[in-house]
Amino acid sequence: MAAAAELAAANIPVTVFESARQLGGRARGVSYNDTQLDNGQHLLLGCYRETLRLIELVGGDVERDFLRLPLQLDLHHHLELRAPRLPAPLHLLLALLNAKGLNWHERIAAARFMLALRAMDFRLAQDMTVAELLKLHGQDADLTLKFWEPLTIAALNTPVAQASAQVLLNVLRDALHRKRADSDMLLPRIDFTALFPQRAAAYVERHGGQVHLSCGVDAIMPEDIGISLQTAQGKQHFSHVICAASSATAERLLRPLAGLTDTVQQIAALEQQPIYTVYLQYPAHVRLPHPMIGLHQRISQWLFDKGLIAGQRGLLASVISAEGIHQELSQEELARKVANELHEEFGIDDTPLWSKVIAEKRATFCCAPNLQRPATQTPIPNLLLAGDYTAGDYPATLEGAVMSGVDCARRCLPGRK
Ligand SMILES: Cc1cc2nc3c(=O)[nH]c(=O)nc-3n(C[C@H](O)[C@H](O)[C@H](O)COP(=O)(O)OP(=O)(O)OC[C@H]3O[C@@H](n4cnc5c(N)ncnc54)[C@H](O)[C@@H]3O)c2cc1C
Repeated sequence: MAAAAELAAANIPVTVFESARQLGGRARGVSYNDTQLDNGQHLLLGCYRETLRLIELVGGDVERDFLRLPLQLDLHHHLELRAPRLPAPLHLLLALLNAKGLNWHERIAAARFMLALRAMDFRLAQDMTVAELLKLHGQDADLTLKFWEPLTIAALNTPVAQASAQVLLNVLRDALHRKRADSDMLLPRIDFTALFPQRAAAYVERHGGQVHLSCGVDAIMPEDIGISLQTAQGKQHFSHVICAASSATAERLLRPLAGLTDTVQQIAALEQQPIYTVYLQYPAHVRLPHPMIGLHQRISQWLFDKGLIAGQRGLLASVISAEGIHQELSQEELARKVANELHEEFGIDDTPLWSKVIAEKRATFCCAPNLQRPATQTPIPNLLLAGDYTAGDYPATLEGAVMSGVDCARRCLPGRK
């Protein structure tokens, strides 16, 4: 939808084929028990410039649509870090030096590490795992468990022992070392389908385009001039095609095409990591101390109070990113465990009125060091790839997906290759 909106802005009529009944993909609204949920709690950073720009382009209002929190990391009873209102990177250094829950040695080690990364311009000569980089820079086990591990999992959805240090540094560079507002955390107040793709669809239609739901692409057929697509509506011909399906579908659609062996191999080599979200609806008086709060060494990694974020009182979301023992539990067991943690950590005695577990088993690619990700431009002229898995600085994020969509759109504009 980012690619479609960007093309619509240039008055190019686009046709969007979406296989699902609704727009949004891995960032979509879900309706359950008369309550509007998301398939997972999403968090944007202030540095997600392209995503925020496009939300405004299609009629959103970032300040109204999001709860904006200055950089803060709270691991209940274990770590409290808040950035003061000072220019970057001073705000981060002071946040680290004043962090509650870290001893002096750890605070200084973390601040020195950040300064060392800045001196290296956030570039490694050779990529390695985050765990290896932390060891090289004297970050001890306690500091890793309380600070670096939650940060890495939140940013890359990959455990520190497997995660790419270079990709983490790319995110730290953009979020922490330019403007203070880049590190702001933005929590959506409306569901994700309403936030962007639905508005983008209306925008595309206002600019002469079409959006077809429940109409997946079954085959991509390059012709002498342009490309045809086979869908439930028959065969249609286009000058350009941007394949913006998930990596698994892109692999299936591209595999039969000549000349794409390397691209298909790169996509096939991507491994996937899950994200589970457990929603618990409590009576309206139940609330957390903050809109977003982390837990240390619990099944729940981050908790979100949808009452404080979006006025959905009593609705709490527990996010469990990356692989782990939670995958061995049934959904009922998992919901019970999360409710027990809420009871033990915050004294919540009420029983949830209902719970809903949304398990996204292929939430993001596993962001390992030195990953070869496919370029947006395929070897077939006028066939492009958009999606969070394509080559770029970012891990699998909304901003990564949007940036690739915008890049594809610009490559389709007249006079561009
Ligand atoms: C639970 C969860 C939590 C997340 N949290 C965050 C977060 O906090 N911050 C963040 O930045 N990112 C987060 N992400 C990652 C983010 O959601 C993804 O990176 C992003 O949505 C990927 O967008 P995409 O367009 O690349 O792919 P997708 O969203 O997967 O879109 C692909 C689309 O293609 C459609 N499609 C599939 N097959 C076909 C076909 N044959 N024909 C036509 N259409 C087809 C699909 O239905 C889908 O709509 C999270 C992801 C999940 C799952």
